[in-house]
Amino acid sequence: MVPAARAVLDMAAFAHNFAWIRAAVPDSKIMAVIKANAYGHGLIRAARALPAADAFAVARVEEGIILRQAGIVQRIAVLQGYSDEEGMRLSARHGLEPVIHSLFQLDLLERLDMAAAMRVWLKADSGMHRLGLADEEFALARLRLARMPQVRQPVPVMTHLANADATDDPTTEIQLRYFGRMAGGQGEFSIGNSAGLMAWAAARSAWVRPGILLYGVSPFPGRSGPEEGLRPVMTLQSRLIAVKQLKTGDAVGYGGDFICRRPTRMGIAAIGYGDGYPRRATAGTPVLVRGRRVPLIGRVSMDMISVDLTDCPSAEVGDTVTLWGQGLPVEEIALHADTIPYVLLCNVTQRVNMVET
Ligand code: PLP
Repeated sequence: MVPAARAVLDMAAFAHNFAWIRAAVPDSKIMAVIKANAYGHGLIRAARALPAADAFAVARVEEGIILRQAGIVQRIAVLQGYSDEEGMRLSARHGLEPVIHSLFQLDLLERLDMAAAMRVWLKADSGMHRLGLADEEFALARLRLARMPQVRQPVPVMTHLANADATDDPTTEIQLRYFGRMAGGQGEFSIGNSAGLMAWAAARSAWVRPGILLYGVSPFPGRSGPEEGLRPVMTLQSRLIAVKQLKTGDAVGYGGDFICRRPTRMGIAAIGYGDGYPRRATAGTPVLVRGRRVPLIGRVSMDMISVDLTDCPSAEVGDTVTLWGQGLPVEEIALHADTIPYVLLCNVTQRVNMVET
C-alpha cells in the first residue's frame, strides 16, 4: 500500500543550500539552525547531512542530547540555554554549549563543580527584547563569565535581530549599532540569521546562524527560495482518493461555504490539518496535479482537502497531488493561509511519511 501523505526530502537540495550559504558568507563560520526537528525536516537527518557545518543550534537541551546520542560530534549550541540545574548538568555531560541569557543561569553555573571547563555563549539583548542581557547586566555577566573556571575562555557573544527581513526598516541598523557599542570591538560574535546574513553586512559576523535558508526558503516576504537561487528541500505530497462530478450550486465541505459556480469536477486529496496542511488555507490556494495548478475549494478537513479538477480533465484517482515544494513554493501557500513558511514546515505531523531522495 502506498502511504497517503508524504514529505519528499531532497537531500541534494539541502547540501546545495548549505553550499549557497557558505559562498554568501565565506568568512563566517556556519552554525546551522536545526531546532524544532530541523524545521520539520528531521533533526538527526539534517545533522547527518551537514558534515561541513561548523556547529549546530537547537533550542532545547533535549534536542542536543538526541543529537549526541545519534553520534553527532560537531559543536551544538542550545539557544535557550538551561532553565534548571539538571539542564545545566546535562549540557555539561553531553558537551552542549548553552546560551547564557540571564543572571539566574550564571548563578547556577557558578555553583557547578566540574573537571573540565565547558563552552558557553553569552546572549546580548540588542533590542529584540526576548532573551538576553543588556547594558550593565550584560557587562556584569561578561565579567563574571570571564572569571569562572567552569567556563572555557573567551566566551563568544550572540545576539538576535528582530527585523532583519525588513530591508528598508532602520531597526536593524539601530540594533547592530547598539550591539557594537555594548559588545565592544573585540570578541567572537554571532549575529546574522538568514535574513541578517543576506541583507546586512554588519551581521556577517564570525559566526552566522541560518535556519530557513537551509531548507530552501526565502526569509524575505514576497520572495521565494528559488528566486534567491535556493532549492526547496521538502515537497509535501498526497494522492487523489476520489473524483466526482458536482452541479452548479452544490456546496462543498464543512459549513458549505464554497458553492460551485459551474459544473465542477471535484477531487479529494488525502491530506488535511491532521497532517499539518493549514486549516486556514483559503479557496483558491493552488495545489499541483499532473504538473498543473488547480485550486482548493471548500474548507480543509482533518484528513482531506477538496480541489477543483475541472481544468485538469485527465486527473484521476491515484494521481499525486503536490501541496508545496518543488514547483510550488511553500512561501506562496503561506500567503494563502495567512501564515509564514516556518509554521507550515514545522507543523507537518508524524502521520506524514518522510522519504529522502
Ligand atoms: N538564531 C536564533 C536565536 C533563532 O531563534 C533563529 C530562528 O528562529 C535563528 C537564528 C534562525 O533564523 P532563520 O530561520 O530566520 O535563519
